Amino acid sequence: MILQDNMKPLYHFIVACIGSGIVYWSSHNILYVFVFFIPAFLIDADHLLDYYLKFKKWEFPKIDILLNHLYDDYNGKVWVIFHSYELILIVTGFLFILLGKVFAIVFLLGFFSHIIFDIYAYDHKNKWLIYSLIYRWKHNFRIRSFYNKK
Ligand SMILES: [Zn+2]
Repeated sequence: MILQDNMKPLYHFIVACIGSGIVYWSSHNILYVFVFFIPAFLIDADHLLDYYLKFKKWEFPKIDILLNHLYDDYNGKVWVIFHSYELILIVTGFLFILLGKVFAIVFLLGFFSHIIFDIYAYDHKNKWLIYSLIYRWKHNFRIRSFYNKK
């Protein structure tokens, strides 16, 4: 399943809203909804970080570049720091310790609702591995290590 790039945020938003609705329906706890929604939708904020790292100037991002062409330079870098099993495990650990296992589980569900969508929606090499920060670091975050050339 390869989706149009510029529609993917909308699909993530829809999945995050449906998941949040299920979380609210089953728990009636608005805090669980936030804990689900943040990794389910807002982890894509790291694409904004990639945008600023690439262009190195503070401006309102050009939406077409952000959604469609941010990773066109086959010799460039892709950081997507929040799309990371390792970071999510650390955050989940903190949630578990500070707020308990339900928060940790809901957070993980939100993260995986996002990552599984990304895994199947993008035409990546090593679809599961690239969401490991260590794996990306070992490949020096090079775009050509993760993306098939368009
Ligand atoms: Zn994503």
